[in-house]
Amino acid sequence: MAEPSEILRDFVARLMAGEGAEVEIIEPGGLEFMAPPGVQQSLKVPEFGRLGFGAEIPSDSERVSFESDWIQRLGNVLGERGRLLRRKLNVEPPPLAHPERVLQHGLILGNAVHQLLNVSPGWTRYLVCSFRYEAFSDEKRDGIVKIAINLTTSSPVDEFIPAFEAALAAGGGAAREWRGSGTGIPESWSRERLNKLIRAVLPERIRASLAPFLGGLERRLERDSARLFEYYDGLRKESSRKTRRHEGEQDPEKSAALEQTRVAAINREYQAKVGDLEQKYALKIDVAPIQTLELTMPVRRFEVIVKRRKKERRLLLDWNPIVRKLEHPLCEHSYSSASVYVVCDEALHLVSPEAHASCESCGKEYCRACHPSRCPKCR
Ligand SMILES: [Zn+2]
Ligand SMILES: [Zn+2]
Repeated sequence: MAEPSEILRDFVARLMAGEGAEVEIIEPGGLEFMAPPGVQQSLKVPEFGRLGFGAEIPSDSERVSFESDWIQRLGNVLGERGRLLRRKLNVEPPPLAHPERVLQHGLILGNAVHQLLNVSPGWTRYLVCSFRYEAFSDEKRDGIVKIAINLTTSSPVDEFIPAFEAALAAGGGAAREWRGSGTGIPESWSRERLNKLIRAVLPERIRASLAPFLGGLERRLERDSARLFEYYDGLRKESSRKTRRHEGEQDPEKSAALEQTRVAAINREYQAKVGDLEQKYALKIDVAPIQTLELTMPVRRFEVIVKRRKKERRLLLDWNPIVRKLEHPLCEHSYSSASVYVVCDEALHLVSPEAHASCESCGKEYCRACHPSRCPKCR
């Protein structure tokens, strides 16, 4: 695996060369360039010079690192380029010797049966959408989350992303988009359809990615709240001790009124401090899409009938040749995948067990895909 500084060096070299500069890598940590006027302007560099990467940089070189303002300069040169990558992976899926067994293991329905109708060669298009998030509270965290989806079957395939990226990095992708007629490659989804899915799954993904940070945040908040409570509780107790100590010296009514005023002031101050704490630990998250990868590749397409009581529905699932796995269907409520699915009676939705859990008030199970806002039995 290349060092991050080498990846950055190679990226800068390719970007500058692509913009018309002469670039030569001079030693592991450095490159030498001759830049045309456009590059001089956009990257704020002289006509000739050296750039240094990593711990040891060549003499007379300007240091380029992920922490420097070079990231901004490189971003300015890139502009909107590199946002969408289209690739075709031409892998030949092997014929499956026991497709029934693949289906048996790959699709588990808790309350319904399935039957394999047909397995045929097909093509599909995957979308891998990457988002960068920044979470601000008393500390700051950032990260990248990715969502992957099969556009033919709607299957969520996040777990395939590393394998897709590895296949592309190994040079498996052809740049040219392959558009044959009658190939059954789905067109891209409408913006609304895609946005609906992204809005449904992104918060949970970001929450999962931030879990350790959120845990720490909660612990710090709890610790500070406990300290605050202890301190002001101490003040209140001190105040009533004072009142008791002076019992008999003062008019009891006057002394009670004084005590009340003191406690009220303490409580006001305590509430203000709690408000400050809430503000300090409030969490704000910014999310922005950064890149989309569109990957077209052949698959084995499973046509399945799902039967529940007297009803049935047809389901398409793809077997992916890179991961060599049958994809899970989409939970039609959470838009995620699950290990077991429940099939609803009304519309034969495939949902995760949580999306078909019992109602908290009447105890009856119901489908959240059919009834997203409330239980149909006790509305
Ligand atoms: Zn209910
Ligand atoms: Zn349903």
